[in-house]
This record gives sequence, structure tokens and C-alpha cells, in this order.
Amino acid sequence: MTEPIHLRVAVDTPQHTSLREPLTYLGDPALAPGTLVRVPLGRREVTGIVWADLAVASPEPVPPALDVKSLLHVLTSLAPLRDTWCQLVEFAAGYYQRGIGEVALSVLPPELRKLDDTQVRQRIARLHKAWARLPPSEPAEAQAAASGVAPELDAAQTRALAELRVMQSPTNEPGPASAPTVLLHGITGSGKTEIYLRAAAQALADGRQVLVLVPEINLTPQLEARFAERFAGRHIVAMHSGLTPAQRLRSWLAAHLGLADLVLGTRLAVFASMPRLGLIVVDEEHDPSYKQQEGARYSARDLAVYRGKLEGATVLLGSATPSLESWQRAEEGRYRRLSLPARIGGGALPAVRLVDMNLQPRVKGGAAISPPVLAALQQRIARGEQSLVFLNRRGYAPVLHCGDCGWKSGCPHCSAWRVFHKLDRTLRCHHCGFTERVPRACPDCGNLDIAPMGRGTERLEEQLAELLTHPDGRPARIARIDADSTRGKGALEAQLGAVHAGEVDVLVGTQMITKGHDFRGITLVAAVNPDTSLFSSDFRAPERLFALLMQAAGRAGRDAAQSAASEMWVQTWHPQHALYAALRGHDFEAFAAAQLAERRMAGLPPFSHLALLRAEARTADAARGFLQVAAQAAERACDSAAVTVYSPVPTPIARVANVERMQLLVESPSRGVLQRFLADWLPALHALRRELPAEQRILRWAVDVDPLAI
Ligand code: ADP
Ligand code: ZN
Ligand code: ZN
Repeated sequence: MTEPIHLRVAVDTPQHTSLREPLTYLGDPALAPGTLVRVPLGRREVTGIVWADLAVASPEPVPPALDVKSLLHVLTSLAPLRDTWCQLVEFAAGYYQRGIGEVALSVLPPELRKLDDTQVRQRIARLHKAWARLPPSEPAEAQAAASGVAPELDAAQTRALAELRVMQSPTNEPGPASAPTVLLHGITGSGKTEIYLRAAAQALADGRQVLVLVPEINLTPQLEARFAERFAGRHIVAMHSGLTPAQRLRSWLAAHLGLADLVLGTRLAVFASMPRLGLIVVDEEHDPSYKQQEGARYSARDLAVYRGKLEGATVLLGSATPSLESWQRAEEGRYRRLSLPARIGGGALPAVRLVDMNLQPRVKGGAAISPPVLAALQQRIARGEQSLVFLNRRGYAPVLHCGDCGWKSGCPHCSAWRVFHKLDRTLRCHHCGFTERVPRACPDCGNLDIAPMGRGTERLEEQLAELLTHPDGRPARIARIDADSTRGKGALEAQLGAVHAGEVDVLVGTQMITKGHDFRGITLVAAVNPDTSLFSSDFRAPERLFALLMQAAGRAGRDAAQSAASEMWVQTWHPQHALYAALRGHDFEAFAAAQLAERRMAGLPPFSHLALLRAEARTADAARGFLQVAAQAAERACDSAAVTVYSPVPTPIARVANVERMQLLVESPSRGVLQRFLADWLPALHALRRELPAEQRILRWAVDVDPLAI
């Protein structure tokens, strides 16, 4: 037996401690970094990961030998996590200001943390056995050629792929410097997915693994089907939060052991352990879902780019409306931009028509469907074509209102209205979930005539059902897809199936219906009330609206035969707005240029870097008090004029479930300066919080680096 030595072990230390670095334990010097172990932590036994000793980067003294406990078990059955994986985790922890162990353990499949060595060994043996029954993984190129599923590339695709091949070529020096990040900009239906498939085939042919990220679980089955069809001989696993714990462990192990050739998943899959990673695809790279919104608030897109560099893997970011961050990087030459400017088969994008709502008759109850849009819908029904009507607000009406005394259906626990849901006659808070039956009369004055104000998808569905008919008098078939209508398992699939089968004339829904779905029969898309995000205080609102409308437009006319007649109607009170002008021209480049110019003037991302410190407390005063003390500490921590610390303000919805939320914005033109500042500042806040007098105690605080909204 060799003498045990001090080892650093990453463990998930309890929250709200300042212990961010791996802890020290006694163990066998031969243990490789990345090995899973079980260690004592307080009175518990927890899973940890032996962490590489960064002697230089870790100035803290090793605790006195007496206090150092020994490792309890080593999970010898599992090959150690690779250095690049550990480096990715360490980078994410540093960048997003979380503990290394917290990040490392939270991105492993939960099952893995519960099993002992024997159990892990069993799972691996079972997996190998199941895998042995599968036909051996076959070279994809041969497969695709044999089954004839790959289409002939068009000119733009050929050009894009040729450029990509040169960059992907294994004759390039392997290693970080040679791994390119490619921004694939192509409108919906321009054949981006085909490029993903070809790039994947190339990586697989080179003996590498492929990671494909999609923004939402709903979109994984479609993409999975396309990859499964193309790579029939290859092993594909899915990785997302909809899997059972056992399935998630299986997928993770298959990737880690190198059995799976392709991993398809949502943001958490960016941390999949893959020993031969050669390509990372990030589909719809602009999508906000890539940002994790709790715990370690990481951006899977940004981590994918970092990981590509670490592993020498090509990163392919695809979108019809790239994020302005990525677009700007391409402008600066840091990303390589490839463009697919036209739809496959020459189909046109739908013509965009703006309906000036100022000229339409005023209707009680807020944004309704205007007569010209109704007529257009009616016409499509008569022609046997489908339409999609999009309104980003679910429920029947956003608020109930008493005309006599002014009562409104506020939530008693939140600073928000409760939404009226007519189907089950409830008032529901979409923030805290508080639900009650709709009162018969006004709770304040007894007036029986309380009325819905404004319009959600439920009411829109009702209205359209009343107004739209087939030429022979049959009522039009209306379907609604939103978070309410798709709660049941399989409900979304069933509803989408009905649309695909042509059993629906008009599909009403929230942004859920604008994403990804390849509807063939839709020739008309109508946006009912998109203006709301035009003048939002959130600086990213126009960017998101533009992406959403472009995406919605992309749902129409996907069938080239019908594309010439396809249209998108936008109801707006601001038809002169520059965003709509760019939309009419399907001109992302013009939109991006205008937005980037504004952002540059205003010193907003990507020309500056932001972090938000959020505090939650029982009272607004306590939350504000903590942030004020934090701001004072910032002045001390901050020896650089290059960091601006703003005053505490309430979050957009200040009170949720009786918790008051305030935030403090920190900004710097330099990412590095901001990072160093945060690293100095945040540890001090742990101590600060404990020193606050009892009546000023906050419930929690957290920092959000590169927040989506401020
Ligand atoms: P995107 O991902 O940009 O929306 P897709 O790759 O899904 O575009 O392509 C749109 C449609 O065109 C798909 O049905 C796809 O199978 C088909 N397609 C893609 N490339 C070609 C091609 N070169 N020839 C014929 N059809 C193609
Ligand atoms: Zn009243
Ligand atoms: Zn509420």
C-alpha cells in the first residue's frame, strides 16, 4: 500500500456556503483525476469527483492534516471523467460564479450519485449486453448512400458544406486552435438540417462522436427521427429532462463509454461525457431556452463554443435569426459565417402584410381579429388550406374586471393579475400557481357583471369558432395548442398529428406552435398582437420578437407548391416601426445591423457585459437593504473604473408567492474585468448576508452572469 496523499475532491457542498473549491481528502496517489468516489461530508456520505490538482491556481492552505478525512469508496467500475470534461465544468463554475463541485455533480445523471460501485458495474454490464444485441455501428456514409435517403445538395448547401469540410478536415492540426466555430445562417427550410446531417456524417466517418443540441424537449423527437433515418446503422441516444432517471443514466453511460455515436439533447446535454467528441451542433442557437434559469445559470450555447475549443471539435451554430451576440462575433471574424439564403426548391417566404390597427374598427375587450385577417382566414378555409393564428398569451383573458368599482383579479401573493381560464372557470396566477374558482359577483361591490379584459388563446379560439365557417356552412375546425391544452401526456403529439392529417382548418396557439414543426398545409400565419414586446423595457425584446415572427413566418408555405400564395399577416398599431419593415423584407441582416447600432450606442451587450445580483426577501426593504450593502462592498472590491454598479431596482414582477425580489445590475465593457470583479465581490456577500440584523435577513441571493433580461 502506498502512503495516502491529499487529494482534491469536488463535492456538492451545501448551498449558501462560500466553499466553492474542491475539498481535501486523503486517498491513493494513483487515483486518476475524474474518478468518482464516495466521501464523508459532515455526517453524510456523498459522491465526489477526484479533481486535478491546480497547485498554482489554488492558493488556499491545505487544512491541518488532523482534519483531513479519508475517501470511503472508489467507483472503479467507471472510467474517470476526462480532463476536458473537468476543464469544461471548472470553466462553467468560474464563469457563472458557482462551486466546481456544485456544477460537476449537478450535471451528472442523478442516479449515478446514488449507486455504489457494484451497482454501477451492473448497469454498465447490462448496457454492454443490450448493446451487443444491436447490429454493430456502421459507417454512416455507406449507409446513407445505400438507402438513398440523402438528397442531392443544392448549390448553396454544396458551397457551405465544402467550406465546412475544409475546416473540419482532420488534416488540420488537431487541437484547440484548429477547431472552428461556424455560424450557419439560413432561413427556415433552407436546408440547415441537411448540413447538420452531412457534417455529422463526416465526423462519424472520422471516428468521432456527435452532440446535437435543440432548445426544447418537444423538438427532440423530430430531429431524432431525421438523424435516426439518416444514420440507421449508428447508435443514437437522447438526453433531456423528460427521461426517467434510469433512461438518463443509460444515455449518459452510453455516451461516456463511447458506445453512442450521436447524442441528441437539450441544454443539459452540453455536459455529456463523450470521449471522442468531434462535432457539436446547436440548432436554433438564438433560443432563450439554452440559458439555464436556476441554479448555475449557464448558457449551453456559449459552453458548447468553449467546449469545442477544448476538445478540438467543430461547433456548428444554426439559426434563421442568430443571436446578436453570435452575429456580432461573425462580423468580427471570430466565427465563420456560412449562409443558406433561399428555401430548398426555390419556394418563397410568405409575403408579410401589416394590418394597421389604427384604421380598424375598435373592438371592446382588446386586440381581436380584424376584418381583413378574418376574411383572409375565411378564404383559406374555402380553399381547403390551413392557417396558424399566433397570440403569445394563454388563458381566456389576462384579467377580470368590475366596471362598477374598478376591482381587478389581482393575485394576493404576487404583483400580477390572475388570468381568467374559462374552460374550468378559474382565476389562475401564472407566477405562483394560486388558483380559485371565478367569483359569481365582484368580491368588492357585489356587481354581477364582471367582465374579461383583453384576450388570450382560449378566447381567440372561441371567437374564431363563432366566426369562421366552411362554404357549405359547416363550422371551421379550430384547434388550440398552448401550455394548457398540452398538459396531458401525448396531448401535444395528438394535436400536432391532427394538424398534419389535415383535420384542422385553423390552429390557434402561443409561441409553442411557431417552433420547428414542419407543417405542410399551412399557407397563412397571423400574428394577433405582437406589439406588446415592441416597447418593452427588456432590451432583448425586439430581438426575440423578430426571431419569433420570422419563425412563425417560416411555418407558412413550407410546401413549395403552395409557397407562392402563402402569407403572414401582422396586426399592429405601429406599422411604421423599423422592426416590421425588416420583417417585410425577411431581412435579418438589416434588423441585426440596426439593433447592433442601437446596442453599441447604449453600451448594451454584445458591446458590454452584464451580471445581475438578485435578492429575495419577505420585504422589499430587506431585499433592497442587502443589495445596498452589496453595492457598497462592490465599491471596495472594485479597483477598476471599468465596472459600473447600478442601484437596486425591483424585478419586473417584484412579488411572487409573497417573496419580494430586487436586483442590482453590474456592467463592464470588458468580460475579463467583470469576471475578476465578480470573483472578488461575491465571496464577500456570503459573509455580509450573515452579518445582517435579523429583521433585514434575506431569503436568498444569486448572481446571473450574462442575464437574458434585465
Ligand atoms: P431547415 O433546417 O433550414 O429548416 P431542412 O434541412 O429541414 O431546412 O430542409 C427543408 C426541407 O427540404 C426538408 O424537408 C429537407 O428534407 C429538404 N431538403 C433539404 N436539403 C435538400 C436538398 N438538397 N434537396 C432536396 N430536398 C432537401
Ligand atoms: Zn366591483
Ligand atoms: Zn401569484
